[in-house]
Amino acid sequence: MDIAVDLHSHSGYAGGVGKITLKDVSETMKLKGIDIFGTGDSLFPPRADFLKENLIGENGIYHLKKDSAKFVLQTEIILTTKLENYKQRIVAHHVILFPDFQSIYKMQKLLEKWGMKNTIGRPFITNENKEQLVERLFEIQAIDPYLEIIPAHVMTPEGIMGSKNNLKSIQEFYGEFTSEINAIETGLSADPKMLERIPDFANLTMISNSDCHSSALNRIGREFTTLEMKEMNYFEMINSIRENKVKFTAEFNPKEGKFFNTGHRKSRTGHSEPYFYEGDFVEKLICPTCQKKVNIGVNLRTKYLSDASIIPQKRKYLYLIPLIEVIAYSLKIKNVKSRQVLKSYHKIMNIFPNEITIWKSTDSEIVEQLDKEIEAKIVSNILSVKNGDFAFNPPGYDGEYGVLEIR
Ligand SMILES: [Zn+2]
Ligand SMILES: [Zn+2]
Repeated sequence: MDIAVDLHSHSGYAGGVGKITLKDVSETMKLKGIDIFGTGDSLFPPRADFLKENLIGENGIYHLKKDSAKFVLQTEIILTTKLENYKQRIVAHHVILFPDFQSIYKMQKLLEKWGMKNTIGRPFITNENKEQLVERLFEIQAIDPYLEIIPAHVMTPEGIMGSKNNLKSIQEFYGEFTSEINAIETGLSADPKMLERIPDFANLTMISNSDCHSSALNRIGREFTTLEMKEMNYFEMINSIRENKVKFTAEFNPKEGKFFNTGHRKSRTGHSEPYFYEGDFVEKLICPTCQKKVNIGVNLRTKYLSDASIIPQKRKYLYLIPLIEVIAYSLKIKNVKSRQVLKSYHKIMNIFPNEITIWKSTDSEIVEQLDKEIEAKIVSNILSVKNGDFAFNPPGYDGEYGVLEIR
């Protein structure tokens, strides 16, 4: 069976977010069509206590009492280390999936043993050198054969292959642990197409998650992964990830991302015009207008890391925009939470069981079902998005998001 999973999120403990209740998350999951959702922040003791109190379940799949939405225990951690030949500390975010509460408690003990503070939703594990880092990764892994460590949003500045780290290979970071990495999270800034020829990634499973800090309809499931699973349990889910049984991933268009292209935005000091760099990859780029350093965008960096001789695996993915944003765009309303937008949204949700069902339907099914009830502009934009007829023009760069155009 096809199971839609979104395995990276954050709770109110991650900072900068309001209260997120599991009940709200459950409601949004059902509308989006997400079958399994990562709880977020489950290592943080108050969060772990809260989850233990409120969730019940077996075989690694948990749910609220009297509620069918399914959760798995998940956290994000930040691993940092010094590396020879690198001046800066290497920083890389990782998702960890746990089979049960017992493994969470064991990992909490490890953090204590290593003297790491576990006082935020997304704890740091700082290491003196690669040897210490690798040893600790193996110690974490030894907690349970079904605990999974996944490099998160690999191309963002804080991802393993991001521009801040500037590594040439993940081997430089993981050493002997490299072969234990089964999957990567492509993240909002990259898609399988961009990563498929990077030698370190070419043979790994690529999953997509929302990394959301909110239960909002345009956050949960904004990226997700559909896995082929024989049974609904945690172990089968991990097997499916390890064996690369990804049916498809739903992706943000990377061009929407804030760091896709390379350049300086117009609003920077010393600029009256934006600067776009269109040349090949360079180690150091200085802006001709303001003479300051320019960060290399994800697009250029992935091209630089890619090996043209690699024959990529066939990976299925589609670009999506949250339905609520398609509606807001169609109605020319900025606020996706406005009454008018929500009204149309729930009208559609009375016809379709969830968003994923819409994206999987044929054009004629969509037209047939929505034609009489929903404004024509919304219906035609849903079809356009479903068929990939949208773009971000200009693409994102230097901290500015790409601007959506549905054709
Ligand atoms: Zn992160
Ligand atoms: Zn500049």
